[in-house]
Amino acid sequence: MEEMTELTQNQSAIVIGASIAGLVTARVLSDHFTKVYLIERDSLSALPQSRKGQPQANHAHILLARGLELLQRYFPGLSAELNAEGATVGDPGHAMIWHTYGGYRAPFSLGKQVLFASRPFLEWKVRERVLPLKNLEVLSGYSAERLVPDLLQQQVMGVRVTSPSGETFTWKADLIVDASGRGSRSGKWLEQIGYAAPQEVKVRCGTGYTTRVYRRQPKTSGLPSWIASTPHAPVERRGGAAFPVEGDRWIVSLFGWHGDHAPCQEEAFRAFARNLPTPELYSLVSRCEPLSDFFTHKFPYSLRRHYEKFDSFPQGYLVLGDAVCSFNPIYGQGMTSALLQAATLDELLQERQGDLWNIAEPYFQRIAKLIDIPWQTAVGEDFRYPQATGPRRWGTGLINAYLSWVHRATHTDPLVSKTLAEVLNLLAPPARLLTPRMVGRVLRNLMRPARLRPSAHRSTLPTLEPISHSSLVKA
Ligand SMILES: Cc1cc2nc3c(=O)[nH]c(=O)nc-3n(C[C@H](O)[C@H](O)[C@H](O)COP(=O)(O)OP(=O)(O)OC[C@H]3O[C@@H](n4cnc5c(N)ncnc54)[C@H](O)[C@@H]3O)c2cc1C
Repeated sequence: MEEMTELTQNQSAIVIGASIAGLVTARVLSDHFTKVYLIERDSLSALPQSRKGQPQANHAHILLARGLELLQRYFPGLSAELNAEGATVGDPGHAMIWHTYGGYRAPFSLGKQVLFASRPFLEWKVRERVLPLKNLEVLSGYSAERLVPDLLQQQVMGVRVTSPSGETFTWKADLIVDASGRGSRSGKWLEQIGYAAPQEVKVRCGTGYTTRVYRRQPKTSGLPSWIASTPHAPVERRGGAAFPVEGDRWIVSLFGWHGDHAPCQEEAFRAFARNLPTPELYSLVSRCEPLSDFFTHKFPYSLRRHYEKFDSFPQGYLVLGDAVCSFNPIYGQGMTSALLQAATLDELLQERQGDLWNIAEPYFQRIAKLIDIPWQTAVGEDFRYPQATGPRRWGTGLINAYLSWVHRATHTDPLVSKTLAEVLNLLAPPARLLTPRMVGRVLRNLMRPARLRPSAHRSTLPTLEPISHSSLVKA
């Protein structure tokens, strides 16, 4: 017979999923609830390791400036700690080599920092801060299976959980937050208790990542260069990025849209890099010592679940992070979006002094507004490709035409470069690119004959550190 344990906690919360979204949500809720339970299907390691529930963890991850600010808010000193342990924290405009739309972006000063760290390392450091919280208990290796409603099905009272040994329990709480990622089963779970699944929107991008880790020559000070090559869509479909991470390593991800993915054989991987319009990534992968095998990840479409459009929703239940929206990862917005959503929940709980009654409506409305911006950034760019399918917002073509001019203006104008970076880092609204001053600068650049446009020559850009002969890869 099925064993049944009923635990009722006063003012307790359950978070499903202990990845970035779940960890930060647990941290936020620990300020508002007597007890927080964090349920994670994978067994959590005491080391920075990737795990089954996170197929994306081996690929290049940047934490955008807005995300790093929020991480600092909830974990003071973490940014310095990450930096001291080898992750790279710095102003992204100072030392970037970013080729896009036929030129290098002009260097600028963002005045804010971003983080380059391997995903398992970042998550491990966050976990180290969350797990010791006095009112937190982690259920590692436990899987949430379905929701448990009250008799009238108006409130989610708990979740049915399977333990590592296969026993099932009902775990009860006043609030349950699903942070179980893109594969979230909330839609199905809601249907099982008489509610509608959220409307889903998919925008096909056909993105594929192929990633390998390389040795990096240690630097004693300053921000080592980071490298990105993003395509002039729709003419080009390939790109790549190299991020300097802890352990004196580069994480190099080569990516492509609509099936044009980098192979995972040595020579073919290099050939893909050589085919990019800029030499730095090829130089890196052909000269640095590889430290890992190849990892691949396919991301067929961006996915948004419109929980804010529900007609009725149970009390005591919320959804957060990739479970609500997972964007084409090339724009690096997922973790920052999760942090913004967790911060919104925090603000709402503060405003309402912990009152949970009907919290779903304002919560989903607010996060929908937040998500709109990174969502439009990602799918707007993806709609440059004729293969992209999905609902296209009116005016996407016009906006993309203007943004192409913005991209080109970033080659020569540090202020345009900086303003675009503020928007992409979710520090400023996209409207910042449409002020009369900005439009004037963009148009002035456009009207300049190409031969008169000062170009950002490679020699003016930060170079890769010299590569020692011992680390050369023998062909
Ligand atoms: C290739 C790639 C590159 C990316 N690069 C970036 C980047 O540069 N910058 C950035 O900000 N974002 C990036 N992202 C997105 C980023 O990885 C996610 O947005 C981020 O992980 C937040 O996701 P999450 O915590 O909501 O979900 P996930 O990370 O998917 O975690 C969900 C967790 O829930 C657990 N779980 C699932 N089901 C259950 C269950 N039933 N019971 C208990 N536990 C469960 C899983 O084991 C997992 O731990 C990238 C994504 C991909 C695919």
